[in-house]
Amino acid sequence: MTRPTRIEGRCAWLREAIAPGETDAPELDTDAKADVCIVGGGLAGLWTAITIKQRAPSTNVTIVEADICGGGASGRNSGMVLSQWAKFSALEAFCGTKDAIRLGNEFGNSASNIEAFCHEHGIDAEFRRDGWIWGATCARQVGSWNGILAAHAKHNIHVFRPLTSTEIAERTGSRSFLAGIFDPTAATLHPGKWVRGLRRVALQRGVRIFENSPMTRLERSAPPVVRTAKGSVTAARVVLTMNAWSLGLPELRGAILVIASDDAVTEPAPDLLDKIGYRARPLMGDSQTFVTGFRTTGNHRFNPGVSGGIIGFGTMQGQRFEGRSIREDDMHACVQRGHPALAGLTFADSWCGPIDRTQSGLPLFGALPTCPDIFYGYGFSGNGLSTTPIAGRILASLALGGQDEWSQCGLVRPAQSWLPPEPLRYVGALMVRAAIKRKDALAYEDREPGFLVRRLAALAPGGITTSRVTKN
Ligand SMILES: Cc1cc2nc3c(=O)[nH]c(=O)nc-3n(C[C@H](O)[C@H](O)[C@H](O)COP(=O)(O)OP(=O)(O)OC[C@H]3O[C@@H](n4cnc5c(N)ncnc54)[C@H](O)[C@@H]3O)c2cc1C
Repeated sequence: MTRPTRIEGRCAWLREAIAPGETDAPELDTDAKADVCIVGGGLAGLWTAITIKQRAPSTNVTIVEADICGGGASGRNSGMVLSQWAKFSALEAFCGTKDAIRLGNEFGNSASNIEAFCHEHGIDAEFRRDGWIWGATCARQVGSWNGILAAHAKHNIHVFRPLTSTEIAERTGSRSFLAGIFDPTAATLHPGKWVRGLRRVALQRGVRIFENSPMTRLERSAPPVVRTAKGSVTAARVVLTMNAWSLGLPELRGAILVIASDDAVTEPAPDLLDKIGYRARPLMGDSQTFVTGFRTTGNHRFNPGVSGGIIGFGTMQGQRFEGRSIREDDMHACVQRGHPALAGLTFADSWCGPIDRTQSGLPLFGALPTCPDIFYGYGFSGNGLSTTPIAGRILASLALGGQDEWSQCGLVRPAQSWLPPEPLRYVGALMVRAAIKRKDALAYEDREPGFLVRRLAALAPGGITTSRVTKN
């Protein structure tokens, strides 16, 4: 049975992207068969489905989605398409220098590939190549990027260029940034229109989609079976692209910490944005561990975002990330600090969504140790836009059984656990989160954190600008 696609309670991006009269894909209510069954219809699942169809058009690909495609993080992110060069050292640790450079280039090309894909398929995702300023909003943050620039210099990689405080003010109208570096390849897009566009292309390519069909059981048999309340899909291969909800699977749980990010959009303010000089509209972020980012939207709204929100508990059964953000005060404070001329704008909407952070900040791919025909792709750590097109290639190679540079790359690795079981994990995460917030705040007072705060904050998993050289 199909139903009208719900827009109430969804974030501004999805409300703008879901056309009036649109209906959900049917619910799974039969026992179906597929060559490949993908669980989770976000960017990772959709890219995997589309890539499989590109490579092997006759493959029967089925997506089983708990909500609607894009209803998870993919339809409610900040739409910043960032190259992954800030994570080069972590990439190098897993993949070796040669492959890290190859993958770095592939991630870096994602913005251009997304632009070309939108053009080819008539997706108006409001793609804009604005570039990204990674900056410092207090003296202690200045030079946070030096380590990564040194790693780049060793290999003749020259993506970022330095910007002075004056140059940042000229481009953005904000005098709060003391220094920064600029990546001109970065882009912004409309997350709702992008993910819903991908859904349309998947359907056009013959991918079968079932929405409002949460997987209730995964049988690790030969062949594996995905069960929902009213039906099942028996498939030669299963691909799990469930983001934070991977916590529900014991084989995957230990490798990610789930922590929300929150976003808001203001009322449209084209005149004010022009007046303060935010004309070229680059996206921008500071160097806090819990990074704060800013961008503008196609309809001239200002869009701040903060990380370090709600922590995912247990298997996240019943835990929801719906409705307005509970962190609007934090977002107002971050605008006041990073872009004070825009601090008077009111928020028209706000929301949050879960992020699946791995220890290194890099995604994980592979086969479940309990079943060789079930593959996983998750742990995008707040950087899914440029990495999910590559995830699609890796997971398509794994699902189609190919031995190539994707199935054999260094990101294909066991989902090793680095976190204790619940409730220790949740309590520990609360303590680490508090320590990171304290450390970030003390930096603005030019103060050094004490021993305990330093030690706890050092346990932070990798994020957008903080990657760690670890085994996971
Ligand atoms: C507020 C916020 C801001 C962000 N900003 C950026 C940004 O600017 N740039 C960037 O690159 N990344 C950003 N991200 C991260 C990015 O959105 C994610 O990395 C990306 O969307 C992950 O895609 P995914 O397909 O893995 O996850 P999702 O889109 O979450 O898809 C997973 C899907 O699995 C489904 N699912 C879960 N359990 C089941 C089940 N049992 N059965 C069936 N289906 C199930 C869910 O309903 C969901 O639709 C942000 C994220 C958030 C939350």
